[in-house]
Amino acid sequence: MAVPIVPIRLGDVVRLKKPHACGENRWEITKLGMDIGLACVGCGRKVRLERYEFDRRFRGFISRQGDEGNAGAGHRSPVDGPADPADQSSDGAGADADG
Ligand SMILES: [Zn+2]
Repeated sequence: MAVPIVPIRLGDVVRLKKPHACGENRWEITKLGMDIGLACVGCGRKVRLERYEFDRRFRGFISRQGDEGNAGAGHRSPVDGPADPADQSSDGAGADADG
C-alpha cells in the first residue's frame, strides 16, 4: 500500500495522529532525510520517525515555512523583480553581409 509523501520543509509545524505524552500535538520539523526529525512544540522533546512512519501519522500542517495561511494550495511566489528604468536600446545592427 503506497503512502503519499508529505511535502514537508524544515521549520514546518505539523500535527500528528497521536498527541505527545505532554498533551501537545504540534511538532516542528527539525531534520529531513531518511528519518524525519521532530521536536515537540510543547516540551521540546525531540524524536525521529522513519519517513514512511511520519507519512502515516501525518494529519495536517499547523504552519508552513514560506507561505502561511494557505494550506493545501500549490505554492506559487509572485515574481517581483527590481524596478529598472526602461532601457530602450535600439537593436538595429547594420547588415554585415559578406560580399
Ligand atoms: Zn511534548
